[in-house]
Amino acid sequence: GDLLGLDNLVANTTYLKAQQIDRNELRKRRLSLTLPKLKKTSALQAAEGEMYESLCEQQPIGSKLFQQFLLTSNDQYAAAAEFLDELSKWSFAEDEKREKAKQTILAKFCQSQSTGFLSYFTEEDAETCKDLSDSNFDEVILDQLREATREFLKGRPFSEYLKSQFFYRFLQWKEYERQKITDKYFYEFRTLGKGGFGEVCAVQVKHTGQMYACKKLDKRRLKKKGGERMALVEKQILEKVNSLFIVNLAYAYNSRHHLCLVMDLMTGGDLRFHIYDLGKRGIRMECVVYYTAQITSGLLHLHNMGIVYRDMKPENVLLDGKGQCRLSDLGLAVELSKGTIICQKAGTTGYMAPEVLKQEYYRYSVDWWSLGCSIYEMVAARLPFRDFREKVQNDEVTRRTLEDECKFEHKSFDAPTKDIISRFLKKRVARRFGCQGDDPRSHEFFNSINFHRLEAGLLEAPWVPKPNVVYAKDADEFKDNSDIKDVTFDTKDEKFFREFSTGAVSMQWQKEMIDSGVFDELNSAKSGGQIDPDIDI
Ligand code: ADP
Ligand code: MG
Ligand code: MG
Repeated sequence: GDLLGLDNLVANTTYLKAQQIDRNELRKRRLSLTLPKLKKTSALQAAEGEMYESLCEQQPIGSKLFQQFLLTSNDQYAAAAEFLDELSKWSFAEDEKREKAKQTILAKFCQSQSTGFLSYFTEEDAETCKDLSDSNFDEVILDQLREATREFLKGRPFSEYLKSQFFYRFLQWKEYERQKITDKYFYEFRTLGKGGFGEVCAVQVKHTGQMYACKKLDKRRLKKKGGERMALVEKQILEKVNSLFIVNLAYAYNSRHHLCLVMDLMTGGDLRFHIYDLGKRGIRMECVVYYTAQITSGLLHLHNMGIVYRDMKPENVLLDGKGQCRLSDLGLAVELSKGTIICQKAGTTGYMAPEVLKQEYYRYSVDWWSLGCSIYEMVAARLPFRDFREKVQNDEVTRRTLEDECKFEHKSFDAPTKDIISRFLKKRVARRFGCQGDDPRSHEFFNSINFHRLEAGLLEAPWVPKPNVVYAKDADEFKDNSDIKDVTFDTKDEKFFREFSTGAVSMQWQKEMIDSGVFDELNSAKSGGQIDPDIDI
């Protein structure tokens, strides 16, 4: 009644307000925060066997500290760091900015007087670099110079870095990253959705202000329904992927009653909601192309890692606050070890490919079929083989999927859209788009998309969610009264809960430290102060 209405209002208001948290207030709250002190030897042991790529390029804090080391060491190292930086700026720049970035590279790095910088290049590299005139400025040459620079950095600069204070600082961050995570680490806000094993609610990290979504899996329900293995697979896949187009995992921990997956918060609602529940049915074409491009990049990312998603449908695609979308709910995903194929029936009726329905062996092909169905649905607000709200048996949907041709009666279908859908909906895998080593991104449907910029997160969304709207059902609609009884846990269960609770995920956690300003704060005035590059550890 009224009281529930008031509860919902309060829940929404506190949730929206948390997202506009005052940064100075936060800074005050963490004044006493310091990095842990380390024993030199144990710290260096921790680094043993670690690769340049992981330490200096992939991990956000590692890359920052290596950069700082290079810039403060000597002119040659600094020039190498700047060169890589300028190259990446040029590569992602648009039109006029691209021209400016190019001139910077030519002036700074390709003049004969900047020989100090060139000294680590082989003669061949140096020749190439001299060739890099106005008229001869292309991606291939620059790739070669980029590689030569990386090779150089992997040598002496890297081994010097490992002995420097910057690396000691990095190890302090790694130690901090390993802290135990409990539910005291977060504030909890309203429920956003409900799944098979529990609810998903919004949470906020107390000392950084970072908002996340927390998927809480009820331990007793998991055990009763035998869902433990599935939960672990979902967690292990989520922590491995690191993509702009997949909901990334930031923390995995367990509380008294739940196993918790803390992921990117998607405040814009799912695409199903956008197709059917916002008045006008269907999504306008500009957005359909943009979302499909992001979904395609996300699927390619999974496939390149050997993962089949198996649950591609609009309901599983969530929008963030900027209107960018990500794949979520990887509970049905499977990782194929080299060469394996599977024939297990999995997916959602209406989106399953013929080879799944016939229980034949399959691999990545099933995701492209489901993407075809999803594009169709975004445009026409119905499925290719099932009308909206049509009362029809699963058997009949299966029959149509196997036998019928896909029809395009809705007026919004243009020629490129029909073409890409028809190619994804080829019943035979051997004929299907995306399944013969071809790249779906090259289809004319995507003519307006610059994938290079899209995949760097630089292409703005055509539609942005309103900041003061909660794109989810009211929280009390997710209330759950069913109580699970007579479940007790043994030592095997406890062991499983511990195996699941690995705490912070490096990539996301380090990004959080940088984005929230904690990285800069702890690296400057406090906790040992600024790094002095001349003191060895
Ligand atoms: P299940 O695997 O049990 O179906 P989901 O992962 O689909 O659980 O999550 C259930 C619901 O919670 C989703 O339908 C969605 O409404 C909401 N949800 C899930 N993940 C997020 C997220 N990262 N941000 C916002 N809402 C989410
Ligand atoms: Mg779901
Ligand atoms: Mg699931």
